[in-house]
Amino acid sequence: MGDGRLGLDTHAVHTGAPRPGIRHAVVTPIFQTANYELVGDAEPGYIRYGNTPNHEGVCAKIAALEGMEAAVVGGSGMAATTAAIISHVKAGDHVIAQDSLYGGTFHFLTEHLPAMGVTTTFVDANKPETWKAALTQTTKLFWCETITNPLVEVPNLPAIAAFCREHGVASMIDNTFASPVNFNPKSIGFDLVMHSATKYLNGHSDILAGALTGSRERIERCSRSLRTLGGALDPHACFLLDRGIKTLGVRVRRQNESALKVAAFLASHPAVSRVNYPGLESSGSHARARDWFRGFGGMMSFEVKGGVGAADAALARVKCFIVAGSLGGVESLLVRPATASHRSVPRDKRLAMGITDGLIRVSVGLEDPEDLIDDLRRALA
Ligand SMILES: *Cc1c(COP(=O)(O)O)cnc(C)c1O
Repeated sequence: MGDGRLGLDTHAVHTGAPRPGIRHAVVTPIFQTANYELVGDAEPGYIRYGNTPNHEGVCAKIAALEGMEAAVVGGSGMAATTAAIISHVKAGDHVIAQDSLYGGTFHFLTEHLPAMGVTTTFVDANKPETWKAALTQTTKLFWCETITNPLVEVPNLPAIAAFCREHGVASMIDNTFASPVNFNPKSIGFDLVMHSATKYLNGHSDILAGALTGSRERIERCSRSLRTLGGALDPHACFLLDRGIKTLGVRVRRQNESALKVAAFLASHPAVSRVNYPGLESSGSHARARDWFRGFGGMMSFEVKGGVGAADAALARVKCFIVAGSLGGVESLLVRPATASHRSVPRDKRLAMGITDGLIRVSVGLEDPEDLIDDLRRALA
């Protein structure tokens, strides 16, 4: 398999699996071996090189889901992100990045890259004039996210891809929140797509993994850095990731549907003052998400009247939702970003970003949406 004309769900189930299967096994077994015999001149198999049957299978699958030539998997989303960036810069180079990135990415750009002689300019992803002003002779890449956390805003993605093409800068996007079900960045010209596979791709909150997809040449480049940095994914985790991806399409489409119901409920609730969800027509990102994505996703955030006290009281009362960070799993989660993902951001900066103390982020899982709504109704009463 591996035919580009197949649908996403068919790729999710079949692509990457050898046919006929190994010893005719329907599911590719776990190759729990670090090392492989040397055969002729062929590159030796070794887990850290990412060239075992479990790695190759899941990589072919992820590349197919994003419509890209190749993929590489790593031990975490951050292993993938750092390898992608390091493989594209050297001392003296420059990076442009969106100003509201995942915390780990932000820390890498601000704390680690400068020590390697690489500087970053943060820009507003909706103000192209700031990108032009940031551009230098040594700008090598532009890093952005499909949907921002936790305000779930959609930046001007086609403009970013076009800007990068025009100026010979590599366009890189963290597509974790959308998943390949809702959006393929390749369709608007992005060069490299990163996923924290810990989230929707695996979907069961039980492994840590990351992935990069792009052209064969670019993935080879990222892969060389990943090998040397040591961010390999274990074969057992490759197997679990591959298994998780088989249901990606049905999971995410159901999460899209349930999230829309949950968002509509929250928007109509008298104790809720604001709901951020691109699926709602009231969202500033609605038109973009509608025009560019196939679904609005499972992530949203909202504010309750009464601020932190009211928010914490609601979190203390939920029974079906779990109060936890991370996202994209089968179980629905609630978290106050001010205490989790954004706890290290100074309060005044956080507020300036629009992230109030009482803001609650929601990751909608696979429970019955009616049960989720009942749970929220009770919690907000
Ligand atoms: C979780 C996450 C990451 C980091 O991924 P890990 O697998 O935890 O290393 C990066 N970007 C986004 C948007 C995430 O949600």
